Amino acid sequence: MEKPLTHSSSLIKLKGVGPKVQEKLSKLGLNNIQDVLFHLPYRYEDRTQVIPVAALRHGQSCLIEVTVNHASIAFSRKGKSRRMLLVQVSDATGSLLLRFFYFNKQQQEKLVEGVKLRCFGDVRYGASSLEIVHPEYTLLNDTNNAEMENSLTPVYHTTDGVSQILLRRLSEQCLELLNNKSLLPDYLNESLLKLDDYYSLSDALKYVHRPPTGANVNQLFAAQHGSQLRLIFEELIAQHLSLQVLREKNRHKSASKLHSDNHLLFKFIKSLPFELTVAQQKVNQQILQDMESGIPMMRLLQGDVGSGKTVVAALACLKAIESGWQAAIMAPTEILAEQHFKNFTSWFEPLGIKVVWLSGQIKGKKRSQVLSQIIAGEAQVIVGTHALFQNDVEYKCLALAVTDEQHRFGVQQRMALAKKAKITIENESDTLAHQLIMTATPIPRSLAMTAYADLDYSVIDELPPGRKPITTVVIQQERREEILQRIHKACAEGKQAYWVCTLVEESETLQCQAAQDTAETLQKVLPDIKVGLIHGRLKSEEKEILMRDFKNGLTQLLVATTVIEVGVDVPNASLMIIENSERLGLSQLHQLRGRVGRGEQASHCVLMFKSPLTEHAKERLAIMRKTNSGFEISRKDLQLRGPGEVLGTRQTGLLQLRIADIVRDEYMLGDVKLASAKIMADSPEKVKALIDRWVGVAQQYVNIG
Ligand code: ADP
Ligand code: MG
Repeated sequence: MEKPLTHSSSLIKLKGVGPKVQEKLSKLGLNNIQDVLFHLPYRYEDRTQVIPVAALRHGQSCLIEVTVNHASIAFSRKGKSRRMLLVQVSDATGSLLLRFFYFNKQQQEKLVEGVKLRCFGDVRYGASSLEIVHPEYTLLNDTNNAEMENSLTPVYHTTDGVSQILLRRLSEQCLELLNNKSLLPDYLNESLLKLDDYYSLSDALKYVHRPPTGANVNQLFAAQHGSQLRLIFEELIAQHLSLQVLREKNRHKSASKLHSDNHLLFKFIKSLPFELTVAQQKVNQQILQDMESGIPMMRLLQGDVGSGKTVVAALACLKAIESGWQAAIMAPTEILAEQHFKNFTSWFEPLGIKVVWLSGQIKGKKRSQVLSQIIAGEAQVIVGTHALFQNDVEYKCLALAVTDEQHRFGVQQRMALAKKAKITIENESDTLAHQLIMTATPIPRSLAMTAYADLDYSVIDELPPGRKPITTVVIQQERREEILQRIHKACAEGKQAYWVCTLVEESETLQCQAAQDTAETLQKVLPDIKVGLIHGRLKSEEKEILMRDFKNGLTQLLVATTVIEVGVDVPNASLMIIENSERLGLSQLHQLRGRVGRGEQASHCVLMFKSPLTEHAKERLAIMRKTNSGFEISRKDLQLRGPGEVLGTRQTGLLQLRIADIVRDEYMLGDVKLASAKIMADSPEKVKALIDRWVGVAQQYVNIG
């Protein structure tokens, strides 16, 4: 006798799955029965009821029952003329057109006057009436009235070669198997989930895959039905647990225990031309505590653009250095890394600390010289780009790895740098550097605790005093003349301005070319202003000179590609023009805008756009005009683009949620945390099972070993 199927049985056991189909399903991440059950529909179609033609609206997906009045072949006028089959149909309430671009002789012969059809498709405006392009249809006749669907039709994410019909057949079979109560273990119970309307796991899955006729469609579409809440809750718990496990792993590694009297820190703080804000001091304390503990620090530091994260990072570096260790600071772009190098050099050299620079552009003899300084420990602070964690870079005694703008790096890259601490202590292969991870895409605390549950969390929630809010205006590009006058006036008053070219060309060369053209044009129309130009194609030394000239006021208007997006710091620049701003994402716009508003004078940002705007673009520009708060902007960005894009978790597969949405479901996160802690404490054996079920492959991906 064959063994009964379990949740981990291979899909080859199901009807309709042979080796070929199995391989295709595997590409979708579907390998066993549980995978199919947790491959949830992302939307539904309602084929349970027939809609009268008179009630159809543009944009709806509907089931209709109609009679053919007339069918004809026509040719489209656009471009190459294309043959089309046009079928005029009606019911008792009205008529509409069915349009087919692909059809065969047989179809054409069947779709003739008097034939009854049941069709499903997307209704849209046509030339003279509503129409459906390529509806799915079945012929009806008096003896055989095809059966109606008795549940909403699920629509699944899929890939080439795997049809919706196949996925529906598979989920149908797997749901059937759920009648065997022992197929799928339920790891949660009512006491954990404080939901009004409790669904067991199998009931929830059945409902979500096949919502019955009469289901509240609005509630379902908003993911507010009890069955959905049950699954969302479980998914968030699994996600939370997976990050907790990661965190535990790290806590079992060791890190250098840094004991020192903080004399360098005090000396440095005294040398600063400003007082640390209360928020900076608070975060500094948290960091020092971590670094003294002997457990690897894994601390995320959030703070809006301009909140002064760099100084806080410098304090952490000093802690490492005065304890006799090295610190590394890694930034995603050359420009930002160079800016840090300059800052750290000017801060630390007076204290007798050796700061070195390492990037991909440093080659040959120069590179081997820097590498030997690093391994000898002569270099105490190492600033650079991805170059910092390459194989041939060996540190004598790395205790701290600072990653700036973490969303530009993958988890692995960050860990690769932290693991450079390994070789430093003999017989201790499990040593990590302390990590300080900085981000200027601040997300609300509760979201951060979920998205980064493997990290401790600090926030700089105030800006240095005296900052004036930036006034943002949105202006159509046809009004360029006005903008030029604005620049002219600002520069005449001794202020400086940025002009950002944001051509979204694939090729960097084209981008740089466009910036160059813009700079030339601007120089022509503004002859008495000194225009500078900076882009990614320039050599390090050239960029350095350009930035220095701008910082010193030798150039007044700096034309730039988005290379200036992060980190550039010139307080006297108080006007920023962003071309084609409608093409940029919210976080990017906020980062760019954050280059102004750093000095004492009031700053302005002009967002130029080209009509017509899409709905999303309109929304983005409106948000930018309304608020300067990075927190609010990130929140909106999360809503519009999802966490994968905004938080840079996409590459890792983490937070690739199936049904939950951390923004929409934020209100659950407190309970999720409590329930997760309870599971960890009471039933540790469920932890791995829940992670396997929901997070699966992604969890292995960030296995940091
Ligand atoms: P971000 O958080 O965006 O990385 P930075 O660290 O670049 O911000 O700081 C922005 C600017 O604010 C820098 O010029 C820095 O010297 C200055 N700054 C930092 N902390 C303070 C403070 N407490 N008071 C005044 N200015 C400060
Ligand atoms: Mg910064």
